[in-house]
Amino acid sequence: MMGAMSTASPSGAASPLPPIEISPRDLSAYRAGNTGVPYVHRFDSGRPGPHVLINALTHGNEFCGMVAACHLLDTGVRPRIGTLTVSFANVEAYESFDPARPFDSRQLVHNLNRIWSEAWLAGAEDSPELRRARVLRPVVAAADHILDIHSTSQPVQPFWVYPAFARNGAAARAIGRPTVHLVMPQGLGSGTPLVQHGLHGTPGHHGVAMVVECGQHFARATGALAVEVALDFLGHFGLVERAPATHPPAQRYELMQTVVVQTPGFRFTRPLVGFERFGPHELVAQDGEREIRAGAEGCTVLMPARTPIVGREGVYLAREMA
Ligand SMILES: [Zn+2]
Repeated sequence: MMGAMSTASPSGAASPLPPIEISPRDLSAYRAGNTGVPYVHRFDSGRPGPHVLINALTHGNEFCGMVAACHLLDTGVRPRIGTLTVSFANVEAYESFDPARPFDSRQLVHNLNRIWSEAWLAGAEDSPELRRARVLRPVVAAADHILDIHSTSQPVQPFWVYPAFARNGAAARAIGRPTVHLVMPQGLGSGTPLVQHGLHGTPGHHGVAMVVECGQHFARATGALAVEVALDFLGHFGLVERAPATHPPAQRYELMQTVVVQTPGFRFTRPLVGFERFGPHELVAQDGEREIRAGAEGCTVLMPARTPIVGREGVYLAREMA
């Protein structure tokens, strides 16, 4: 028997559900927007300056972005210079939220954060996420700088995730929090994320595009941090006034390998939440016959799947950078 407070993984193991401290609110008031694209709001200062996009809900159950986007809209934040765009990405998945199955509304069919390549966007397949990405494409492409707000299934420290372009690292360091960075020298390895769409995925571009992982999906503190980081990001580019940031030393990790689950038998060798360290060649997970092992230098694991699902990411193997 499954209790109301547990959920079944494909392995049959049950893990307790986290408390839902952020309730998904009704977003119908934000549907019309003012750009012709549903759930997209744009404010032009009428003065020169960068166009900054704050994007929420790329994953439907990552409520912190919704908290931040609603904060910007509800408090009437307007850019002093340039242009501010605020968007809610996968509202359709968000609206499917069921507190008894809170992890299911991450996506309906496709992961909206893996389909930002020409092949997917111009391809023949169809899904709610592909339809939405095709509609959002000009919104993403129009922005100089992009903050894509996310959260994690496990309660781990917040961190940035960004392609290894100097412009991204410089912005993350200047903003100062979170202090942990996950740098992707080769991209994700499992698809094209929103922050690597088009010119933002190229070395010569001027635009910063980063993910911020603000903490556990349903924790109140995660939403509070998302608000602060969104304002910090706007402050960094001069769109709002912001107190100078403090600059504690950054702790940087480099993504070495994205492990995609291949079999229903995928198992970690021990329970993981993220940031655990494995020694050289140590076994991290077993996926059918396949062994997932740390490299010669060992590794740090990030974002281990709470419930491994075939075809989705199981875990990221990273190494600490000097
Ligand atoms: Zn996410």
